Amino acid sequence: MSIRSVVRKLHDSSPVFVQTAIRSIFASLPDGIRFGRDYTSIKEDIFQSDKASVEQLRSRRDESLQRLIAFACERSEFHAAGMKKAGMSPSDVRGPDSLAALPLMTRDDLHQHNAAIRASNAHDFQPEALTSGGSTGVPVEFLSDRKALLYEKACLARHWMRAGVRDDDKVATLRGLRLKVNPRKPTLRIGKELFVSTYHLSPATIEHVAHEMRKAKVTVLNAYPSMAAFLAKLIRDAGCEPPRIRVVVTSSETLDDSQRAQVREVFGCEVFDYYGLTELVGNAGQCSELGGYHFSEEMGVVEITDDDGVPLPPGTEGNVVLTGLLNYSFPFIRYVTGDIGALSPIPCRCGRPHVTLSHIAGRTADYLLTPTGARLTVAALNMHDSTWDNVLQYQLVQVAEDRVEVTVVPSARFTVEDEKRILAMIAPKLSDFTVSLRSDVEVRRTNRGKCPVIVRDYLVTS
Ligand SMILES: [Zn+2]
Repeated sequence: MSIRSVVRKLHDSSPVFVQTAIRSIFASLPDGIRFGRDYTSIKEDIFQSDKASVEQLRSRRDESLQRLIAFACERSEFHAAGMKKAGMSPSDVRGPDSLAALPLMTRDDLHQHNAAIRASNAHDFQPEALTSGGSTGVPVEFLSDRKALLYEKACLARHWMRAGVRDDDKVATLRGLRLKVNPRKPTLRIGKELFVSTYHLSPATIEHVAHEMRKAKVTVLNAYPSMAAFLAKLIRDAGCEPPRIRVVVTSSETLDDSQRAQVREVFGCEVFDYYGLTELVGNAGQCSELGGYHFSEEMGVVEITDDDGVPLPPGTEGNVVLTGLLNYSFPFIRYVTGDIGALSPIPCRCGRPHVTLSHIAGRTADYLLTPTGARLTVAALNMHDSTWDNVLQYQLVQVAEDRVEVTVVPSARFTVEDEKRILAMIAPKLSDFTVSLRSDVEVRRTNRGKCPVIVRDYLVTS
């Protein structure tokens, strides 16, 4: 077991104040000790890969895919059965195009066939047991190879590098981490990083938070999209001087246009979003050139498909289906992520060889499901205008098949006029639903501390 696994186990089973202490110590160690010696060469590989040609990258991907399929057919009972059912042998899979003949793998499969998916020699890959949470559904355990964990970390480092983050930048982190802090002064310096406990971020603490960020000379914001936007709104409303942020990197929730606009307005800088999955079967980072997301083909194969698993052409929105190339202990082949996206019909101007997704939206429950079965994502609702100016946070909660409740966290300027304006703007967009509005002191969070714009209590099991 690696030091990282031991620390993670200890961390996860400790009370918050011990977790905070463990983080402080762990953050002060060099990368080589924290992540093992292999990490340096893996990071180098991933950074160099940006300079590869399209042909080099695709040929690397296809070789990895062929190797994985051959392995899964031999070592995973579940995938061997899938291949057999499709009437295919491993040698039939040459590249992503030939994947389409294989069955899809769903979250239900993770529950029902967990043991059969696991490779018979899973132990050889030094796997860590991880849990896929999400805002809804029962958590399910799966394995992740140590190599996949290190590559994911390297891909995230590459995303930061592409976004323009430098080694000497000072980072403030606003994510779901629980920290032992003074609730009135919810910040903590750990190494070079300033952590803000988002559970205590509010109009009452914003002066302190903004002051600490300025004092620490923070230049990079690492945040959930909802928290980056919330911070921006609080700073603007309180009229305090914003820290001089150069780059904002977001991940783990769907970033919508209104959140991006709020961050731009207050910090005057760009937001670079990152799409990753707990299952570590691929990731994508937003490129500055076209706004699209470059998918890391070193780690996975991406397909956009219809509900039957038939691949859709670039420009058409569909299900994001991923095959993880580095997970041997628990192979994910044609895994339906629950996210919605589209391949970009045109190559990105930056010249990087990776395939580009024009957008990714709608995490597992991040869309409203209309009574006719249509999915309304935040992007589709296009709610980016001044309607929300006097609201600190908002959330659309689908509470029943035909009912949506809008929760707003009002700012000091909020009046009954705002309430009318919001309903007048949103009701026509949600014509299939009865819409009501209620005020609260906070919006709902997932168990990982995220604040998604859309929450669906009403679930349909197919
Ligand atoms: Zn690009």
